Amino acid sequence: MILLEEEKKNLVEHLWSKGIKDEVLLKAIYNVPREKFVAPALRKFAYDDSALPIECAQTISQPFTVAYMTQALGVKQEDKVLEIGTGSGYQAAILSELAAEVFTIERIEKLYENAKKLLTELAYNIHLKLDDGSLGWEEFAPYDKIIVTAGAPDIPHHLTQQMKSGGRLVIPVGTQESQRLFVVAKTDEGLDKKIYEYFKFVPLIGEEGWHT
Ligand code: SAM
Repeated sequence: MILLEEEKKNLVEHLWSKGIKDEVLLKAIYNVPREKFVAPALRKFAYDDSALPIECAQTISQPFTVAYMTQALGVKQEDKVLEIGTGSGYQAAILSELAAEVFTIERIEKLYENAKKLLTELAYNIHLKLDDGSLGWEEFAPYDKIIVTAGAPDIPHHLTQQMKSGGRLVIPVGTQESQRLFVVAKTDEGLDKKIYEYFKFVPLIGEEGWHT
């Protein structure tokens, strides 16, 4: 237990040294038990700054990637946030520590079921859906913030349509091999895109994603 606290503290300090200065976000990373989102055999690596495999050939993202994207998203306490790519549910849990309401979509049934069970056990009040997230979640739109945690070939129109004016979308865009992080701000005049670091994500598969 003491070891776990030490590992969490080390990870937070490491993220701080890599430029993650948002104290509320660092507290959320400290609070969310990442070891519960990975298989028992991988728990000893839960607080390493590395991506880890989860079921169905998918991954739980590297903590730095989660932190970098979440910081870029600029989540506020009153925000309604949509995540595409639930995976293990870890990023959704982080968002839930920061925002008023969190919605998350996963396309693989097994991962959706696992995440739903775990997030309920951990008492996170998150809305989950099994579907193609490249089309967003029209029923609860518009969202203040949207984060896509899989690599897309382009920015899905459905997602920009479901953002509030003044809202923000964070999405990795590129090839299936590598993507750059796009931060898209929606204003009354249109979309303002900024392009940041290179990342490597599993593909966003769907109607407005990759087709294979
Ligand atoms: N956010 C996750 C976490 O915290 O564990 C990690 C996400 S993993 C890198 C990407 C996830 O996106 C995978 O679980 C994959 O099945 C999912 N995915 C890919 N295309 C999708 C789509 N069109 N709609 C919803 N989920 C999708």
